[in-house]
Amino acid sequence: MSDHKFDIPSKSPTALTPGAKIKFSCHKGISCFNTCCKHADITLAPYDILRMKKRLGLTSAEFINQHAVPFEMDGDGLPGLKLKTDDSGACLQLDGDAGCGVYEDRPTVCRYYPLALLTLREKGSSEAEERYSLVEEEHCKGHEEDREISIADYRQEQGCDHFDDLNRDWYQLLLKKKSAGPGVGHPPKTSLQLFFLASYDLDNFARFVQSDNFRAAYDLSADFYREIAEDEVALLKFGFRLLRQALFGEQSIPEHECAWEDRMEKRKPIWEARQAAEREAYVRDREARMRGGDG
Ligand code: SF4
Repeated sequence: MSDHKFDIPSKSPTALTPGAKIKFSCHKGISCFNTCCKHADITLAPYDILRMKKRLGLTSAEFINQHAVPFEMDGDGLPGLKLKTDDSGACLQLDGDAGCGVYEDRPTVCRYYPLALLTLREKGSSEAEERYSLVEEEHCKGHEEDREISIADYRQEQGCDHFDDLNRDWYQLLLKKKSAGPGVGHPPKTSLQLFFLASYDLDNFARFVQSDNFRAAYDLSADFYREIAEDEVALLKFGFRLLRQALFGEQSIPEHECAWEDRMEKRKPIWEARQAAEREAYVRDREARMRGGDG
């Protein structure tokens, strides 16, 4: 199952609209059943992880450790996760001849197959458009089945809408990051760490958002903290907003007025110690050079 989900930045001649029809069917009994899952290359989106960790009864950190492998999504080290496979490339969720062991909670890429979702933006447009490309792999016999279906109906049949609705802001974020200028294109390490936390490690992100430091920095209501404690989807959506603020400076989350000054005040002793050490090193270096000149 090849993965082309997050990777096409410009309009391609093969980009299909929701009304386009494909000839495809996959079902138990087809000669290639499960073959695609034996060659799985599945990039995970945030809501995929939320669903699968719940299904498997794991925390987000346990899910990441046991069922995911990291990769870099771009040249700036933007962290991505793929579903883990065994040494032969087979997805660990494959349950023998029964097929997918997490079918109702399977990731977005699996739902779309043999389509890939393309999030595109026309030059000069601020609006992203969703288009699709057809993936035709030699092993897949689904294309030979006698069923024609529109992409819109196929997406509905596979339950793609709900997953896309919850991941859409994240896809937009990736697209904006990709098309942004170099100033935004090379985020600092702390922003990349926040990206990982908010996108994938939701349980630890919840702890981070509920921490005293976070509460001291952002001006958010008690209702907000109650809501995100009870609703992981609300937490996920908040995480996407926070990432936009951290990566692109979009101020949608109010900060406490003196949060910056407070942070500066706390760091002052560290900076002062560092400056003193640098001054001492400079003086030592100059004295050593002068001694060398004398000799
Ligand atoms: S999660 Fe399920 S559908 Fe997706 S590759 Fe694994 S076994 Fe196949």
